[in-house]
Amino acid sequence: MSTVQLIYADNNATTAVAPEVAAAMQPFFGPAFYNPSSMYEPALSVAEAITTARQTVAAFLGAAEPTEVLFTSCATESNNAAIFGVASATPSRKHIVTSAVEHPSVLEVCKEMQRRGYEVTFLPVDRQGQIATADYVRALRPDTLLVTLMHANNETGVVWPVGDWARIAKETDPGIVFHTDATQSAGKLPLDLTGAWPHVDLLSLSGHKMHAPKGVGVLYVRRGTPLRPTLLGGHQEGGRRGGTENVAYIVGLARACDLAVEHVPDMARIAALRDGLQDELRQVIPHVEINGDGVERTPNTLNISCHYIEGEAMLYELNGRGICASTGSACSSGSLEPSHVLKALSVPFTAMHGSIRLSFSAYTTAAEVRRIAEVFPRVVANLRRMSPYWDQKTNGPRATL
Ligand code: PMP
Repeated sequence: MSTVQLIYADNNATTAVAPEVAAAMQPFFGPAFYNPSSMYEPALSVAEAITTARQTVAAFLGAAEPTEVLFTSCATESNNAAIFGVASATPSRKHIVTSAVEHPSVLEVCKEMQRRGYEVTFLPVDRQGQIATADYVRALRPDTLLVTLMHANNETGVVWPVGDWARIAKETDPGIVFHTDATQSAGKLPLDLTGAWPHVDLLSLSGHKMHAPKGVGVLYVRRGTPLRPTLLGGHQEGGRRGGTENVAYIVGLARACDLAVEHVPDMARIAALRDGLQDELRQVIPHVEINGDGVERTPNTLNISCHYIEGEAMLYELNGRGICASTGSACSSGSLEPSHVLKALSVPFTAMHGSIRLSFSAYTTAAEVRRIAEVFPRVVANLRRMSPYWDQKTNGPRATL
């Protein structure tokens, strides 16, 4: 019996926990179990571990002060806390600017804000996933409370110039709060909230996208940003997020930030693997669309739409050959609706359903990418052979019998 070596190419959905991260967390499941708020000696060293972790994460983000780092349970919580928290701190402003391609943890909160009487501008994107700066500038109004625009898109990897957009917001009106969801860029692109992004007020990230476990995230809150807490009932996190701290996971996230400092420079290697694969697939497979090609993308992401076949069938076939990938975002797979991101990019109808996202990590090897380059075209060719759409495209319409 042959065992198929598994190739994991779905790192935008989640990443493997790095062994160094697991090791750093271990003591907090054992002897260092104490409540960090308790006042005896062993608990004080647990509290100290959180202090150190906060310093590490602050340094990773280029934050001016460790107190600007709030630990949360995930990026979904961070995004909710940012939007609801800004709204309840400044009730006089009732307009929010966001985009059509945000993650649901921003999009759905913005829709909830609409139900609560807020006006929300959902900025459209072009075929490459870009927002026209003129549209953005036009959207800012005297009553704009918040701009929330992601740094990198989870489905296409398209990266936006959020530092510039934050500056434009502040030049228009210093009272506008600027939030960015950096869940898909943290650990892949350098982040620097003091030097590069001095106008970004709030930033979300998630541990499990950068080799820490699921269940820990960060909301960076620039000092002085008007934000009310959404989790009340505890003094933790300076009274800004109640709940006994998830010490092991916080320590794990800090260790992952240390590793990311090494991973980010290595991303040029990953980008070269991705670009090589993209060129090869485009050469050998007719009728494909690379979503987000030609603009800045995260180095690890390749979103490819193959006309006339179903993404789900491709996933099934790839899975059978030991390759783990996804269609659209993991969050929307399982539904028959094409992803809201690909719809917003106006991916042609015959390609929208045949979209696959391959996403690599710092642990991806050249041999794995080579294997994908061999398998992927065969899978597409096999499925097209069975596809009535493809048949019609290549042979023309059949006469009715
Ligand atoms: N934002 C983006 C861009 C994401 O990709 C994800 C995860 N798919 C989230 C937010 C939510 O992250 P979490 O799973 O930590 O809630």
